Amino acid sequence: MNIVIFGPPGAGKGTQSEFIVKKFNLFKLSTGDLLREEISKKTTLGLKIASIVNSGVLVSDEIINSLIENIVSNKEHSKKIIFDGYPRNLSQAENLNSLLHKYSQKIDIVIRLKVSLEIIKKRISGRVICIKCGKTYNEFFNPPKEGKSCCKKEFLQKRDDDNVAIAIKRFNTYEKSTEPVLEYYQKMNLVKEVNGEIDIESIYSEISDYLSFIEG
Ligand SMILES: [Zn+2]
Repeated sequence: MNIVIFGPPGAGKGTQSEFIVKKFNLFKLSTGDLLREEISKKTTLGLKIASIVNSGVLVSDEIINSLIENIVSNKEHSKKIIFDGYPRNLSQAENLNSLLHKYSQKIDIVIRLKVSLEIIKKRISGRVICIKCGKTYNEFFNPPKEGKSCCKKEFLQKRDDDNVAIAIKRFNTYEKSTEPVLEYYQKMNLVKEVNGEIDIESIYSEISDYLSFIEG
């Protein structure tokens, strides 16, 4: 089973893919990890990537595709991949499709973690930290309990608000660039939408049900 997981930054995609990887024994393919790994191996390609990254230019689709082909063609990972944060655009999605086809594989399911911008904003803007013990809370979703600990109002500190503006920008960029990719997979009837606004365990159990069904 090969999976693509979609979700805006702050949707909890990382947490969910970790659970999925463990339960279904999958390989998590993130292009950032692949790039970092190649750089650290200091291969010819790795050195080339390092110089591109250092000059602040985006790594080409061609390079990304060859890194992905290394994984897809590896028998150890065959039909056991979860694509996290990839494909990001339509041409990458089409490319991935033909690449998988070349190795007699396909995408079996696309999980779309749906979280509204309002919730993501609250998750970020509500974050407070107790400067006495270092515990973190969220004013909206997980406020400190009265009188139970050292975490009283005078010790709770908010992080700066810049993060919210960045989150809004990243959310909008994400929505815009992934919309055509989702349409592409919707046409193939692969997309399952999961409510990402409920608690972590319930989200995971919903995803897990879909995946178990596919695994048969
Ligand atoms: Zn405290």
